[in-house]
Amino acid sequence: MKLSYALYLLKFKHPFGLSYGSRTTTEVVYVKIEHDGIVGYGEATLPPYLGETQTSVIDFLKKAAVVLKNFKLSFLIEEVISAIDAITPNNNAAKASVDIALHDLLGKYLNRPVYALLGLEKPLPKNTSVTISIGDLNLIPEKLNELQDYKILKIKLGNKNDTEIIECIRVNTDKPLVVDVNQGWADKNQALEMIEWLSPKNVLFIEQPLAKNNYDDMAWLNERSPIAIIADESMLRFSDMDKIAKCFSGINLKLMKCTGLFEAVKIIHYAKQKGLKINIGCMSESSCGIAAAAQLMQHADWIDLDGPLLINNNPFTGVSFKDGKLEINNLKGTGAELVNKELNFVVA
Ligand code: MG
Repeated sequence: MKLSYALYLLKFKHPFGLSYGSRTTTEVVYVKIEHDGIVGYGEATLPPYLGETQTSVIDFLKKAAVVLKNFKLSFLIEEVISAIDAITPNNNAAKASVDIALHDLLGKYLNRPVYALLGLEKPLPKNTSVTISIGDLNLIPEKLNELQDYKILKIKLGNKNDTEIIECIRVNTDKPLVVDVNQGWADKNQALEMIEWLSPKNVLFIEQPLAKNNYDDMAWLNERSPIAIIADESMLRFSDMDKIAKCFSGINLKLMKCTGLFEAVKIIHYAKQKGLKINIGCMSESSCGIAAAAQLMQHADWIDLDGPLLINNNPFTGVSFKDGKLEINNLKGTGAELVNKELNFVVA
């Protein structure tokens, strides 16, 4: 198998605001794995907080290319995935890009969509939450109008004016909200007070209210919270799940955190067994990564796969959004198709 990669910069339609700052672009590395004239595509999306860069991904992919040379297009995908995982301890997004491309390639080779390859249920169209970027509160009515098709709104809190933001949203719409605090609340007492205030306001879940390593306070909060609390930054991989099951009600599963589809399926089975809720989320990636994540969505309580809606230079197709619902395109593989032919793929 031959691996090549292309560097890209995804541009946001609106600056993307979080409790710790805002940004206008996201670095991406696309991966292409070829075998017998068939091509599989993958994506590593690199928001700065993950600690991976285009350079660290390229370094990883060069090592992955050597590993892949030892394998024919393998029907034993677990062996390939384990060999890729063993290259370095981290590089989760880089690993995900290889995992996604391998699943896409294998699906195309076997003439099957990836969900079928993974033994999962066929994904039906599903409402996705969509992030409304907060900034100037005067612009919220206009932004809500842009998002009128979408039935669930995601709000980033963890700022000084959280209550003002929610009040402004609630003046304009009564749609269900999901709230992502991005570790932004100072302590468990402030968090509980905020959650109780949010409780009658039609909030489906609260994501990562406290610092990612603050497990004891999370367990305390989770016992008392009237709203489901789900782990994002606290939960990366399958190995985190025992700890997470003790102090959260659910997880935000993202391919870029968990190294890809192979491990995501293990996490889904574990979460179901433990009664944990599952949100499938993304890192503002393009349709290449979202087409892969969407293969899992029939097994999720909620999805937050709005990446393609937030960017204005998506080089792939693979999913569509109709009346607020995300749909896969039912092609073999992940369904991702490269439409920007100017992407410059270089052999790793
Ligand atoms: Mg989050």
